[in-house]
Amino acid sequence: MTMYKLRPSGSARWLACPASLVLEAGVEPEKRDDLHAAYLGSATHELLEMCIKQQKRAEAFRGEFITVYDEEYQNFPYVKEVDETMIASANFFIDEVGEPLPGSEVYSELEMEHSEIPELRGTADYVCINGDHALLADLKNGTGIVQVQKRDGTINTQLLSYASMVFDKFEQVETITLAIIQPNGKTKKKVRSTGINRKDCEIYLDRVKEAAKLADEATEATLDVIASEGSHCWFCKAKDICPARGKAEIDRDFGGDANQVK
Ligand code: SF4
Repeated sequence: MTMYKLRPSGSARWLACPASLVLEAGVEPEKRDDLHAAYLGSATHELLEMCIKQQKRAEAFRGEFITVYDEEYQNFPYVKEVDETMIASANFFIDEVGEPLPGSEVYSELEMEHSEIPELRGTADYVCINGDHALLADLKNGTGIVQVQKRDGTINTQLLSYASMVFDKFEQVETITLAIIQPNGKTKKKVRSTGINRKDCEIYLDRVKEAAKLADEATEATLDVIASEGSHCWFCKAKDICPARGKAEIDRDFGGDANQVK
């Protein structure tokens, strides 16, 4: 069976299209060196981690160099000097999460893996545990707005994925505040938040299990049945080998059933 990972960042895609889990796992990683906004985001996250772990304001690291390198996806390291924009972003985050209350535990870049579904794993930017309540905050460095909750009430699945792992890891936690902090977002409301309790999060975990089950049981014959096209295809690494997209393109170009095209 092909191994896959249930990465929180891709959750909107693999929940909508479980086939992408199987298909993406078979695609060789492509090395690129032009994703500057993503590298800058990673460097800013690293600066934030340094601030939280060393309990310092970001200006303490002005002029230092941060290297971003993922040997699977980059040919060359990206080296960034800590500048004013990065300092402002990290400090904004620190100010928004505030001083932790006495007795609470703070984690930065907390790596987690779900005990029941080990494929569900990821790293949360900031988690503060205070008794039976937690604050889980995610730094978004870009300008495009990422919502915590849609108008219909549905909560961002990336955050729900992290929340599932927090509930799993910290048995005493019953409620979590989920926040997206977006210092450079093109909006006045740069901090957006909502809440979730353990019971409601279990409903989400059932959706994750269902997607994983479909991927586990997939065969070549069923892959295009469980594939589902949509805006989530944009970041799918399996776009070029996806049978559903191939069929949809033929349908678009020839206006009919791909099976009838000889
Ligand atoms: S390209 Fe779209 S339909 Fe195909 S596997 Fe990826 S997400 Fe699914």
